[in-house]
Amino acid sequence: SAALADIAARDGQIGAFLSVREQALEEAARVDAARAAGEPLPPLAGVPVALKDNLNLTGTRTTCASRALENYISPYTATAVQRLRAAGAIVVGKTNMDEFAMGSSTENSAFQLTRNPWDLSRVPGGSSGGSAAAVAAGFVPLALGSDTGGSVRQPAGFTGTLGFKPTYGRVSRYGLVAFASSLDQIGPFARSTRDLATVLDAISGHDPLDATSLEATARFAEALGDGVRGLRFAYVRESLGEANTPGVQAALERVRAVLEARGASFSEVSLPSLEYGIATYYLIATPEASSNLARYDGMVYSHRALLTSEADVNAVMSASRAESFGPEVRRRILMGTYALSSGYYDAYYSKAMRVRQLIARDFERAFADFDVLVTPTSPYPAFRFGEKSDDPVAMYQSDVDTVSLNLAGLPGLSIPAGFETLEGRELPVGVQLIAPALTDERLIAVSQAFE
Ligand code: GLN
Repeated sequence: SAALADIAARDGQIGAFLSVREQALEEAARVDAARAAGEPLPPLAGVPVALKDNLNLTGTRTTCASRALENYISPYTATAVQRLRAAGAIVVGKTNMDEFAMGSSTENSAFQLTRNPWDLSRVPGGSSGGSAAAVAAGFVPLALGSDTGGSVRQPAGFTGTLGFKPTYGRVSRYGLVAFASSLDQIGPFARSTRDLATVLDAISGHDPLDATSLEATARFAEALGDGVRGLRFAYVRESLGEANTPGVQAALERVRAVLEARGASFSEVSLPSLEYGIATYYLIATPEASSNLARYDGMVYSHRALLTSEADVNAVMSASRAESFGPEVRRRILMGTYALSSGYYDAYYSKAMRVRQLIARDFERAFADFDVLVTPTSPYPAFRFGEKSDDPVAMYQSDVDTVSLNLAGLPGLSIPAGFETLEGRELPVGVQLIAPALTDERLIAVSQAFE
């Protein structure tokens, strides 16, 4: 009830939530009753959590911040959500996002802006901006987002929260509305490493309902005490330099000092193919999106245009899509369809698939010598509303440090690593830690070193 009251009192200013669940109160009452009866309680018993609005939960509206799904009520629950609830967590609401998770500022929501709690004139990042803002504002201690190219890590960096993207396949994607299926991963936001470990233990693990889900036991909480002594860290050379603001460079230095003081070694490594990360990402994400979004034709579900009875099925589908997709979603469908079309497939999509392998190999080579790689989460702190929304390529560039992990399937964590004062306001700065596939737990040990 405290969480719901706080949201009612303060979210008018922030805009983190698209919907709240009053049933949360009944669920909380059941936890209270179980506690009073002395029953054993699961690890997240009674903990209020928020879900990005592309995660299905039976009976809730799941809009993906799109007019296309404005009235869509989930008939089923995502595996990660079901596991979170089985661990005792109580879903208090669904959070704002860029439409279909396409964007880096949450400005592409069809419904509302979300403001960065640190400075209301700035974006919270995206596409999981609502979940990040909900945790940063203190409405909930935990939230789930999805990360296709940085959408958990970048908003975590912009809001001073922890944001984790697991190894591809460690968290089931069943019930997460697909954007780019070979890149999508569900990931949590938290304010402490212990909370992060608890939620990761709850949601990870094999799921027969997701064919890409992996068999791997989650031992996140066990890693909390592992320390960083003897771990070999390296900055990624391609992510350093004057593309970063002074505050971001200072944060990288601070991370190094903390880790060295705790017995880790620090070096620098070059991953030359990262230069092609953004181009490769957009030639893989948009084709997958154009295919995944083909289902929103107004026939089975999603918005249907009201046309005269003479209109044929193609006219209805076409009008339904034109009326309900925002400009960025349309741009992605056009780009993706183009890159997949006969005559361009080899030049674009197939080439991007090969560069994706080069990027993965660069990481493998670096991990032969180092345990954890370090980059900024983003080259700059939170930007202002409207600063990049007229320039799609500038917006795409804000994920320059994050997309390559999705291309290679690697786990990444953004930790709060300092502040930068811009125009008189202190803004959080994030640093990204990268580990080899299936060694996600190592990042928990590293994060713990900062608390
Ligand atoms: N900003 C990137 C994009 O627009 C990544 C989004 C995401 O991770 N969902 O595609």
